[in-house]
Amino acid sequence: VQLVFVGGRSPAFGLLLVGVFALTVGDVVWAFGEIGRLDFAPHVVDAPFLIVPSAISVAMMHPSASHVVRPIRDEPRVRSTSRSLVVSSALIVPPVLLVLPGRITPMTVLLSIGLCATSALRVAHAMSRDDRSRAELMYRAAHDDLTDLPSRSLLIDQIDRVLHTSDGPLSLLFIDLDHFKNVNDLMGHHAGDELLVRVSERLVATVRARDLVARISGDEFVVLAEGLDESSGIALADRIRRAVGEPFALTGGEVFCTASIGVSTARAGDDVTPATLIREADTAMYESKSTRNETTVFDQSMQDRSTRRMEIERLLRHQTEAPNLTTWFQPIVDTERGCVAGFEALLRWEALGAEISPAEFIPIAEDSGMIVAIGAFVLDEACRQAAWWRANIDHADDLYVSVNVSARQIASSDIVDTVASCLQRHGLAPSALWLEITESVMTEDTAVTAAAMTGLRLLGVRLALDDFGTGYSSLSGLQYLPVSRLKIDRQFVAGLGSDTSNDKLVRCITAVAASFDLDVVAEGVETREQLAALHELGCTQIQGFLFSRPVPADEVPAIHARLDRRQARQHRHRRHTRRPTATP
Ligand code: C2E
Ligand code: CA
Ligand code: CA
Repeated sequence: VQLVFVGGRSPAFGLLLVGVFALTVGDVVWAFGEIGRLDFAPHVVDAPFLIVPSAISVAMMHPSASHVVRPIRDEPRVRSTSRSLVVSSALIVPPVLLVLPGRITPMTVLLSIGLCATSALRVAHAMSRDDRSRAELMYRAAHDDLTDLPSRSLLIDQIDRVLHTSDGPLSLLFIDLDHFKNVNDLMGHHAGDELLVRVSERLVATVRARDLVARISGDEFVVLAEGLDESSGIALADRIRRAVGEPFALTGGEVFCTASIGVSTARAGDDVTPATLIREADTAMYESKSTRNETTVFDQSMQDRSTRRMEIERLLRHQTEAPNLTTWFQPIVDTERGCVAGFEALLRWEALGAEISPAEFIPIAEDSGMIVAIGAFVLDEACRQAAWWRANIDHADDLYVSVNVSARQIASSDIVDTVASCLQRHGLAPSALWLEITESVMTEDTAVTAAAMTGLRLLGVRLALDDFGTGYSSLSGLQYLPVSRLKIDRQFVAGLGSDTSNDKLVRCITAVAASFDLDVVAEGVETREQLAALHELGCTQIQGFLFSRPVPADEVPAIHARLDRRQARQHRHRRHTRRPTATP
C-alpha cells in the first residue's frame, strides 16, 4: 500500500507492483494451503510465483525503470483522500470479521485489536511528522542558518509583542562589527563565518536569558532587552562591547574584533513601530561608527542628520549623471622661490539652496562608492585647467595642479588607467599633476594601495600625504609608500605661534619629512604670525587664506599674476637684504 502511494505512473513501476502483488497472493495462498484450509492444485499455487520474477525482470528491463530508481524529490503527501480510504477500509476488516458468524476466536479478537492499534499509531505518526516538518520549516524561516539566531521577522514579532503586552521600558541594541570585511578579505569567508558564529555565542552568553539576540544581516545583530531602560541598555551595550573585544581563537588564527552599538529605547504602549525602533538604533549605531567601538543612544538630531545624509546621497546620485559640481582652485605659494608653485583643486557644490561643504558630501560619496565617478570628474577638470594654464599664463610652464584622491578611488581597480588616460587626453605632463591622498589609505588593504600608488608613481605623477598627523598613519608607511610630500594639516597650523605644543608637532613633522627626503606644504595658513613661525621651522610652501581662498577656474590667471608679481618682488627684495621676511 505504501508503494502504491509513493510510486510514479511509469510502466516499470506498474510491473513492479504487479510482481509484489503476485508475491503477496502467492504467499497467502500457499500459507492457507500449508495450514490445510485450502486445497489447490500445485500449478495454481505456482502460478503467482512464476509471475513474480517475470514481472520484476521485465520491469527492470523497461526503459522507464530509470524513473523507478530516481530518488523521490517531494515528500509523499501524508494525508490524501485515497490514503484515508485505504486506511479506513483496512479498519473495517476487523469488525466485519467479528460479525461473521463463527469467526470469533481469541486469536481473531487479538489480531483485530492489533490491526486497529497499528493503524491508529500509523496515522498518529504520519500526522505528527507532518506537524514536525511544518514546525521545522517555520523555525528555519524565522532563524538564521549560520548562527541559528532569530532573524529579522521573528525580531519584529517579538518587539511588537513586548510593545503590546508588557509594561515598562525596553531597549534595543543595534550591534555592528567593526572592520568585519577585513576578516573576510584577509582570512577568507570560512573565517568570517566562524567569527560570526563565535560572536553570536558571546552575545547570547552576555545578555540575560530572557533577552532576544537576532542576526539581521551580514555582521549586524540586534538585542531586544525587555525591561531595560536607557541607562541599563547602555550598561548592557558596554558589557557586550567588552565581551566582543576579547580575542577570538579561530581555526585560522587569533582575531581581534570590536563592535559599534546604537541604542534606542521605548516604553510599552508607546506609539512606535518595531521598524522605527530598529531604524533608530541603526541610526545611533551609524554615529558610533565614526569613532568605532562606541555606544551611542539615539536622539532626534541623529534622525535629522541621517535624513540629510540620505537627501545628499540622493542629490549626489543625480549629480554624477549631470554634474553641477564645480572645481575651484587654491594657490600653493613657494615663498622661497617667490612664485605660485601650483593650485589645489577643491570641489564646490551648491544644492538644497546653499553651498554644501565637501567635508560633508565627500564622506557620503565615499560610503556610497560615488566618489569614483566624482573623482574622475575632478581629475579631468583639473588636468584640463592645468594644461590651459601652462599654455596661456605667463611664467606658468611649471605650474602644477594638486588633486585630492580618496582611499576608495585608490583601491578601485582602474585608478592608474584613469589618471594615464586623463593626462593623455589633455596633453599634460605627468610632472604637472600631484595627487593628495589622506593617510587613511594606510589603514586600507595595504598591498592593493601600495601597488596602485607605485603604478601612479611610475607614470611620473607625484603623491602627497594629506592631513598628515591627524589620522592613523604609521611612520613605517612612509618607508614603503612612494610619496614625495607631506601636507601639514591646518589644525596644527592654527595654533602656531600661540600654542607651543603645536610648534613642537609641526617641528616634528618637518623633521620626519626631512629624514624621508620629502617636501612639506603647510595648509590653512591665515595669519602673518603663522607664516613667520613656519618660516622659522623651514617650511616655505604655503597654502591658505592669507594668500588666497579657493577661487573659480576663471579667476586663476588673475590670482596667479597677483601672487607671482608680489612674490617675485619679495624675492628680489629678499635677495637684496638676504633676510627671509616674506609676506603676502
Ligand atoms: P583638504 O584636502 O584638507 O583641503 C583643504 C581645505 O582647507 C579646503 O576645504 C580649503 O578650502 C580649506 N582651507 C584652505 N586654506 C584655509 C585657511 O587658510 N583656513 C581655513 N579655515 N581653511 C582653509 P574644503 O574645500 O572645504 O575641502 C574640505 C575637504 O574635502 C578637503 O580637505 C578634502 O579632504 C575634501 N575634498 C575637497 N575636494 C575634494 C575632491 O575633489 N576629492 C576628494 N576626494 N576630496 C575632496
Ligand atoms: Ca587636500
Ligand atoms: Ca589637507
